[in-house]
Amino acid sequence: MANRLEKYSDNIQGPYFVDMDCIACDNCYYLAPNNFSLTLDFDHAYVMKQPINPQEQEQCLEALKACPVDSIGYQKQ
Ligand code: SF4
Repeated sequence: MANRLEKYSDNIQGPYFVDMDCIACDNCYYLAPNNFSLTLDFDHAYVMKQPINPQEQEQCLEALKACPVDSIGYQKQ
């Protein structure tokens, strides 16, 4: 389970976040390209935009479920 206390500071504020266990596998960007991005040095992923419509909500949930190290978290605001 992702740890909100260890989330990267470059996540945009909101319910979804990526924590420091991320291994930069790129799955989340592939599944939810509107919402996840990798840092320029490919060190880790982060949430660049919170989902704002049903399609993005679905894609972000798929990304959360597909993360191989459970590094994507969701916490209601
Ligand atoms: S799917 Fe998980 S491990 Fe892979 S880049 Fe995204 S947050 Fe990181």
